[in-house]
Amino acid sequence: MTQPTVGVLALQGDVREHQRMLAEVGAQSTTVRTPAELDAVDALVLPGGESTTMWRLARTFGLLEPLRKRVAGGMPAYGSCAGMIMLADRIEGGVAGQETVGGMDITVRRNAFGRQVDSFEGDLDFPALGAGPAFHAVFIRAPWVEKVGDGVDILARVATADGGNTGNIVAVRQGRLLATSFHPELTADARVHALFLDIVKEA
Ligand code: GLN
Repeated sequence: MTQPTVGVLALQGDVREHQRMLAEVGAQSTTVRTPAELDAVDALVLPGGESTTMWRLARTFGLLEPLRKRVAGGMPAYGSCAGMIMLADRIEGGVAGQETVGGMDITVRRNAFGRQVDSFEGDLDFPALGAGPAFHAVFIRAPWVEKVGDGVDILARVATADGGNTGNIVAVRQGRLLATSFHPELTADARVHALFLDIVKEA
């Protein structure tokens, strides 16, 4: 296969930050705003931002159905934060009528960590990233994964007060779909993007 092209859904959110990370792991990337642009990519990143806005714009741009078709058809996809919400089959705490692309058999709770801790950072035990230091994760009005279906691997949970990594689920994988509650694109650690690129290359 020639070098895969990874699209970044560019309706809203931290698109450029994802493109920077993709470049860092050696992936070719391009922005996706139209069905034709979606057709041209081998994989897709759904960035962090605001899922309600992303959903409305996806409807307006006629992208929601094409996105659903590509994901259902096996296109690798990675969603961070709002992007995780977009990939979830079910959401809790959405606005009235809020739809997702879906594909992952998970229930995601929006803004789950609550007002007191709108934003926080924490070190995660993330074995799928291989040996190495804990992953320093940035959470901004983040969702968590409330329930997972049988085919979903739990990749990371937040630490609890006693220091164990047994808290809420914040990273999951189902086949070629990957999602994190946090924003690796806002840090200097490219290991999550490298993991996604491995998934893309396998596919
Ligand atoms: N709370 C946002 C939403 O519901 C997600 C926040 C983020 O992506 N940083 O879409």
